[in-house]
This record gives sequence, C-alpha cells and structure tokens, in this order.
Amino acid sequence: MKVVIVGGVAGGATAAARLRRLDEQAEIIIIERTHYVSYANCGLPYYIGGTITDRNKLTLQTPESFRERFNIDVRVDQEVTSINRTKKQIEIHNLATDEIYTEAYDKLILSPGAHPVMPNLPGINSPRIFTLRTVEDTFAIAEYLEKVQAERANQALAQSKPLRATVVGGGFIGLEMAENLVDRAVHVAVLQRPNHLMHSLDPDIASLLHNRMREAGITLKLGADVTGFSETANEITTSFKNKGDETGATHQTITSDIVILAIGVVPENKLAKDAGLELGIKGSIKVNEHLLTNDPDIYAIGDAIETTQVVSGQPAHIALAGPANKQGRIVADHICGISRTFTGSMGSSIMKAFDLTVATTGISSKAAENAGLNFDSVIITPASHATYYPGAHTMTMKVLFERPTGRILGAQIIGRDGVDKRIDVLAVAIKAGMTAFDLTEIDLAYAPPYASAKDPVNMAGYVIENILEGTVEQIHWDKALAIAATDTNAVILDTRTQAEFDRGHIGSNKDYGEDTLHPIIHIPVDELRERLEELPRNKKLFVHCATGIRSYIACRILKQHGFNCVNIAGGYTFYQALHLDRNTETENIGDCGLKA
Ligand code: FAD
Repeated sequence: MKVVIVGGVAGGATAAARLRRLDEQAEIIIIERTHYVSYANCGLPYYIGGTITDRNKLTLQTPESFRERFNIDVRVDQEVTSINRTKKQIEIHNLATDEIYTEAYDKLILSPGAHPVMPNLPGINSPRIFTLRTVEDTFAIAEYLEKVQAERANQALAQSKPLRATVVGGGFIGLEMAENLVDRAVHVAVLQRPNHLMHSLDPDIASLLHNRMREAGITLKLGADVTGFSETANEITTSFKNKGDETGATHQTITSDIVILAIGVVPENKLAKDAGLELGIKGSIKVNEHLLTNDPDIYAIGDAIETTQVVSGQPAHIALAGPANKQGRIVADHICGISRTFTGSMGSSIMKAFDLTVATTGISSKAAENAGLNFDSVIITPASHATYYPGAHTMTMKVLFERPTGRILGAQIIGRDGVDKRIDVLAVAIKAGMTAFDLTEIDLAYAPPYASAKDPVNMAGYVIENILEGTVEQIHWDKALAIAATDTNAVILDTRTQAEFDRGHIGSNKDYGEDTLHPIIHIPVDELRERLEELPRNKKLFVHCATGIRSYIACRILKQHGFNCVNIAGGYTFYQALHLDRNTETENIGDCGLKA
C-alpha cells in the first residue's frame, strides 16, 4: 500500500509515524512545502522572544531522522499543486528545482493546516507586515527585529528609540507574540476588533487578562477595526476605527517598526476545493467520523477540516495541535483496518500571559447562547493549594453549566498556579458528560503543597449544586448593578470587613466611572446576625463580599431569617477587575491598576 501525505507537521507527521508502526511494508511519502518537517509551531513565538534559543529545537524531526527511524520518504520544499482523483495521482512542484512531477497513491491524507487571514486592506503588502505560521516566518521576524535593533545600536538610538510593534489580533498567536516581543524589550500595542481578547473567553473574565497585559506595558486597543497600513522610510502606520470609543467611531493611527498580523486562520482548502471535495464551515474540508472526505481514498485532518464541537454538537473549525495529532493517529489506524472514530473537539486551550495562565475548555457563554442552551455560570476564586502552606495563589474560575441538569458545558480559568490541572480535570469531566453533582464527588489527590481537601474543581461543583438546589440564588455583576441602579426595591449589601470597605466599595471610586446611585448597605458578615434590623425586609438584597464565600454565608443567614437575597458572583475582586478594565479600554496603565 502506498500512502501519500500532504503536509508534514502536526497531523501529517503523526499519521506517518503511526502508519509505519502499524505497517512495516507500506510505502509512505510526506510532501511538505516548507523546508522543515515536524516543526514545533507552538514553540515559534518563544524563539522570537528568546526563551528558545537553539534553532534546531524548533524541529522535532528532520527528513533524515524520519528516513532512519521510520523509513519514511520526506520531501521538503515541495508543494502538492493538484489532485487527480480519477487517476489517484497528485501533481507536485519541487520548489527547489522547479521540477513538476506526479506521484500515485492508494490512500491520500491531507494535513495542509490553515493559513493566516490576510485582509484585503490598503498597504497590506508592506514588507514590515509579518504573519507567523512556519519556521521561515519565525526566522524572518527574528531577523527583521535584529536588523532594526542593530541599526538603532549603530546610531546610538537603542535606548532613546526602542523598537515598537503593532500586533493586530488578540487571539492566542497575537498574544503570545505580544508577550515575546515584550520579552525582547519591544514596545507593543495590540489591536483587537472585538471588545475583548481571546474569543474563547467571556468578556468579563477577559478583563483579568486585559489588566495583566496593560500592567506589562502593552497598549491595548479594543474594538479597533484596522482600515489600512501606510509606510514611511523607516516606519509603518496602522490606521483603525475605534468602535469602543464612547464618542462614536473615531479614526486613529499607531506607528511602529513592525506589524504582526494575527487575526485568525482559514483552512488551507485549495487542493480539496479544486479536486471537488466537499467543504463545510469556513471552507474547511468535510469529513466523516473516520476522517474520510467524500472520496473513499482521501482522508483529511487537522486545521484544514470541519469538526464537531462536542459540547454544543455543532459543526466547528477548531485549529489546535491536540486534535490534529489525535486525528493523525486515527487516520493511520483506519487505513490499517482498525475502525477508529473521531468524535469531535472540545477546544481545550491554554496560554501563558506573563505570570498568568489562561485556559479554556468546552464552550463560552456566547457559544452556549448560539447553541440555544439553557445555561448559567459560576465565578469562584479558589486558591491553588491550601493557603496555610506557602506559595498559594488564587485563580479565577468561571464554569458554565446547563440548567436544570447541571451538565458542565465549559470552563475558563485565569491564575498564576494550578490552572492547567483544573482545566484538564474539567475537560475530562465535560468529555465524560459529567454534571456539577459529579464534580462534587471526584476524588482528587490532595496534600497542602498541591491542592486543598476541597479542590477548586469540587468547589465549582458545590457552588453550582447550591444554585441548582436553591440553597442560594445567584446574580452576575452586570445584571445586579443594572437592577440596583433603576429598581428602588433593590439594595446592594456589602458584607466585607470595615477595613476592606474603607479601601474601596461600590460607588466609592469616581475614577472608575462608578454609578453612585446604587443604594448600598455595609454590614460585615460577622456582625450580620446582630444587625438584621438594619436591613429592609421588603427589598431584594444583592449581597457581595470580596470573592463570594462570605456573601454566600450571609445569604444563608439572611434566607433563614426570611430575607429576599441574592449572591453576586465573583465578589468585589471581580467587580474591580471588570471596572478597571472598562475604564482603561484604550489607554495604557502602569502598575497596580493606576492610570499612567
Ligand atoms: P500544520 O501543523 O500547520 O501543518 C501543515 C503543513 O502543511 C504546513 O507545514 C504547510 O507548509 C504544509 N502544506 C500546506 N499545503 C501544502 C501543499 N499543498 N503541499 C505541501 N505542503 C503543504 N495549537 C495548540 O494546541 N497549542 C498551541 O500552543 C499552539 N500554538 C501555536 C502557535 C503558532 C505560532 C501557530 C502558528 C500555531 C499554534 N497552534 C497551537 C496551532 C497548531 O500548530 C495547529 O493546530 C496544528 O499545527 C495543525 O496541524 P496540521 O497538521 O493541521 O497543520
């Protein structure tokens, strides 16, 4: 059997290696357009930032190592230009020699990935605009930065005129680039068309990320719709309309030495389209559960294909390395007669943002809305491990669940420690179709340096359980404030200590643009039982503390004394993150959330 694979990186290289392990006799050929095979796409930004310094570390295999270890024929610098399905042949352009030749196949695997979106904007072809997908792109960006830095050093301008970069796009590639450029002492501005970074995050939890990016000195322009680029001798100016500006759409510009364009990817579908293979969402290649296209001899995997979002059951384009690798293995198995299926992706992702880890799994609130699900979410701020053991950090955890079943739909976590393990446990819970009630029962490993006896995952389950069983009623900040501002029957009750209250409370900070109209009562939770007569029995009490734990206790006291009360999710800490973000949307800020 002769198997030809188009694309020799995440999906393609995995499929090839698994095929060889299953079938020593098969003829396996990988055709790869770039000069590198099995390279570490996910590591590319870290080479630019200087965390990875050895170029050779970016490639996991070479054509020679593939030949030696797996007896696989890897042809780099060669592009597949067409598929002849009738003859079961592909046409190949050898980019090094300019030779064009054909290669027959018994089975063809398409793993051509996805390419960066290049919008048709004025000035888009400027040599100062870069995208990041391949090893070649990485070296081009690094060499360009080194060249400009060297020029500045020669002119003794390195200190007075630091490098500036505009990153267009606030998804994970854009943000990883932003961080790595900061690591190279580049001044960075990130322009993002939506009003928040990372579409897999909900806008509220994204505030925490915004605040951290600004704290690192990055200028964030949210709601910024880029309209074009223009070059002068040494610089490039990016023009954009700022939708987020309260005064209406305004035209603004930002000038830098380099632009990194990272506004998303589109499936590399030309071969498939020209060959008449069926396409789906965003032009991705449609495949069945065995990852077969509508041609029984052509499989497709990775960033190029349409998959199913397992939580919503809806078709999706999910461009991530995990699914591509898994699909590569499944296809190899299927070719070798093992009937394996791919059931869909959850879109689990994780990203480093300076000292924060940002991770998601399952679906966001917007995706849940689009899927027509009846859902709610909890926001909790548990510690990464027992707080009496040194080094614990709190994380902010938002968990989406279906009403009334309690099925876990998605999770978003931001924090400094322990985020990765919680998101992975929740990913497993979602994959297993678990409910919040199941989360309360998962027996997770515990010792003080690692976790708490009630792990954050268990805690999420308890909080959701309380809501679903009516032990406590919950509301989110946006709704609570909107109601409190207009409904005279609603009162905000702050249950934090006097010292915490004095440091800041709802309505205390006009710089945050707080609406002082919100009626507010302050009674620390520990004084609540003695001061119940101060509270109106005919009004609805929106109760908060710093994080939601004391206000939950307060709600239990109040409810059992006949008060009508609701716990505000996330507490004052979350409120501060939201308000700090909202009021510095287009400005840079310094340390500690103070305006620069
Ligand atoms: P790719 O790995 O992109 O491989 C496709 C290959 O096919 C390319 O090398 C291309 O040159 C070749 N090709 C295309 N057309 C042809 C043709 N006609 N002929 C010959 N060769 C062709 N995912 C994560 O899960 N976590 C991360 O942290 C992460 N970080 C990333 C960082 C960056 C900078 C980038 C670019 C991607 C990142 N990803 C990450 C995404 C991940 O790399 C992809 O999801 C994954 O590589 C997709 O695998 P694939 O096989 O479909 O495509």
